[in-house]
Amino acid sequence: MSQRLRANALLVLWALICSFVAGCDREPESREVTPLTGAIMGTEYLIKVIDLPEQFTLMQLDGDIAQLLRGIDASMSTYRDDSELSKFNAAKTTEWVAVSEDVVEVVEHALETSRITGGAFDITVGPLVNLWGFGPDQHPDRVPTEDQIQAEKARAGYQYIHVRKEPPALKKDKEDIYLDLSALAKGYAVDQVADYLESLGIADYMVEIGGELRLSGRNERGMPWRIAVERPTPGVRDIFNVMQLESNGVATSGDYRNYFEQDGQRYSHTIHPRTGKPIDHRLASVTVIAERCMHADAMATALMVLGADEGLALAREQGLAAYLIVKSADGFIAKSTESFEQYLDTNEP
Ligand code: FAD
Repeated sequence: MSQRLRANALLVLWALICSFVAGCDREPESREVTPLTGAIMGTEYLIKVIDLPEQFTLMQLDGDIAQLLRGIDASMSTYRDDSELSKFNAAKTTEWVAVSEDVVEVVEHALETSRITGGAFDITVGPLVNLWGFGPDQHPDRVPTEDQIQAEKARAGYQYIHVRKEPPALKKDKEDIYLDLSALAKGYAVDQVADYLESLGIADYMVEIGGELRLSGRNERGMPWRIAVERPTPGVRDIFNVMQLESNGVATSGDYRNYFEQDGQRYSHTIHPRTGKPIDHRLASVTVIAERCMHADAMATALMVLGADEGLALAREQGLAAYLIVKSADGFIAKSTESFEQYLDTNEP
């Protein structure tokens, strides 16, 4: 018997955090909030602009942001056959294939992340993601055979991918390489929206797409943004801790929202490139804070792959602000790097 859970990876509890914040901030809401919502990349987004300058309208922002996000979806989705990425994946060639600068930027960042994580992060695990039922194919959840796993694993390897900036293009050394940008493209989209808002001179905002975030300045109460880290319990939405942030990218990866169960074992969507199988350790979630959301997004997945000890060691080595929630006999324990501690909200709820 297998049981499937695939929820929107909204790892930050907006409804909860709003009532939480409203209940504990001393300052009343004093600034005008322009909220924008929509659906993209199989998930939802929420953008809050504080004190929108008079020369801009909600309609203009809404249209520009929707168009920007649709463009990224059209470039980087493995869920549509007509995206640039899907065309590259389908191309049976080892020649350069022209792509947009956006795709080059994201793939280049992915390859750099692979290098600094010793291959724990690897966008060529796409065929394995699909084999285990976490990609666009709607096949039933079941544990694949060892032969199937080895066959798809043989296709992987980030070292077989090359990027060229001028003119922008990608190249693969093996024709059957298949890329999956799901672990960092949402973060990239968050950064793009944040950069667009900043180009308009907007200094106070929150951009959230499917749980990945960029924050800037102050919230509607003129206070630093307060963001919850979710308790990583499947089927339950509860706050584990609260961060206080001003201008940061934030991303969380976990094993508790997108998984299936078979014979009492949980199989999560994070694949270890070395085994070709879902991770199997006690690390339940990782939250990373970085200047760029794309970096936070990629590193959160990488640390999930590595597990608590190796992940924490790498985060420290990289000077990364990381917060790891680990399953223990009594529930969960948190481990964080020193650079994360400044963001923990010490106010009583
Ligand atoms: P994260 O932790 O951020 O990433 C986990 C994902 O990374 C896995 O699901 C897998 O795809 C990949 N991964 C696993 N192991 C590794 C590894 N070792 N190294 C690198 N990557 C790894 N979903 C839909 O249902 N419908 C859609 O139409 C749809 N469109 C999308 C379009 C785009 C452009 C993108 C980027 C994603 C889309 N998705 C869609 C996927 C979805 O919304 C999420 O991006 C996805 O489920 C992972 O996000 P997350 O935050 O849950 O997990």
